[in-house]
Amino acid sequence: MQHITILGSTGSIGTSTLDVVARHPDKFGVVALTANSQVDLLFRQCQQFKPRYAVLLDEAAAGQLRQRVREAGMGTEVLSGMAALEQVAVLPEVDAVMAAIVGAAGLRPTLAAARAGKKILLANKEILVMAGSVFMDAIRASGSILLPIDSEHNAIFQALPCGYDGNLAANGVRRILLTASGGPFRNTPLDELQNVTPEQACAHPNWVMGRKISVDSASMMNKGLEVIEAHWLFNASADDIQVVIHPQSVIHSLVEYVDGSVLAQLGNPDMRTPIAYALAYPQRMEAGVEPLDLFKVATLDFVAPDFERFPCLALAYQALRAAGTAPALLNAANEVAVAAFLDKQISFLAIPRVIEAVLNALPVDAVECLEDVLGADAQARGAAQQQIRKIK
Ligand code: NAD
Ligand code: MG
Repeated sequence: MQHITILGSTGSIGTSTLDVVARHPDKFGVVALTANSQVDLLFRQCQQFKPRYAVLLDEAAAGQLRQRVREAGMGTEVLSGMAALEQVAVLPEVDAVMAAIVGAAGLRPTLAAARAGKKILLANKEILVMAGSVFMDAIRASGSILLPIDSEHNAIFQALPCGYDGNLAANGVRRILLTASGGPFRNTPLDELQNVTPEQACAHPNWVMGRKISVDSASMMNKGLEVIEAHWLFNASADDIQVVIHPQSVIHSLVEYVDGSVLAQLGNPDMRTPIAYALAYPQRMEAGVEPLDLFKVATLDFVAPDFERFPCLALAYQALRAAGTAPALLNAANEVAVAAFLDKQISFLAIPRVIEAVLNALPVDAVECLEDVLGADAQARGAAQQQIRKIK
């Protein structure tokens, strides 16, 4: 029996994780579920999975949940705040932590879990983008197992040699081919991009996801963040990683070897596959995913990415090459810009403009510790807000 904490249980990844867990009650016990402020859904999840703890970041929401749990006579203890998120990630009875909070907000509890040596199932890519060196050091120091949930990185993990030691060349790897669907605006005329709405940006052709990652997919910042994520997970340089547009999202990524072999992982676009892979690792288990019907898929297309249509992808490569705090600046500026776009304060095309202005305005420093990252994150958020006020 594996005991797990799910950080961000009410989100797209969180609910898919619980869907897989519910199929294997003999294998998994839920210790804690957490969310930002969604009382109703977290209450229903508590009824079904009977966790020992439920945490809401928002204190008022936690008060409501506590009352409902008490009225229903349930045994779940309801906590609130960032310290409680950290607390349920490091409990001695927890074996594995699903990191499925969106954005920088997930950093502290996930880092705490890594430091405590928990097995980490990592969906929250922003953690690696902003604090890759700090997080990977914590994983190494505690000896925890880190399993990627992001479908592309999960595919790469599966296509790399078992027990891959972080040296691509020594393992005969020539490069990593990171696939991208191209999002909803892959073929939209450039002059129409100015006026696209948050609803259009969130209507992804192949995946149903949270709003932030959906906008990132539309701008292809998501792929940029994933290039940086792959850098940290697999010790790959920017030059080792080639982005490939593959609109069908059937191949989830590939690894090319020096002998000419190219290994790919295929499957229907359903996050329950990488989630089940990581939960069962190193075994396999049923995930509820529809089998891949190659006859129905019939064709697979591949196109090179267009950096002019998707300037966010170029900005991410630029930040990875600049290293130090540059990816943290990129990530924070992107979070602020995407929130402003979702809030209809700025246009879709203003997102890369805000990020570029922040990257140009702020110095890049070395990252020695977590405080360096948090300082850069705060500075970039301030600079991005300022830029947005100027644009509006
Ligand atoms: P989502 O918006 O659907 O869910 C986010 C979860 O985090 C919710 O439970 C929410 O309550 C919680 N949360 C949000 N802000 C919080 C805060 N400030 N403090 C505490 N909790 C907070 O997002 P998602 O689509 O599930 O994505 C989660 C993460 O997984 C993201 O980093 C995303 O990039 C990554 N990811 C998602 C997918 C996908 O298919 N959805 C695929 C790959 C990677
Ligand atoms: Mg992905």
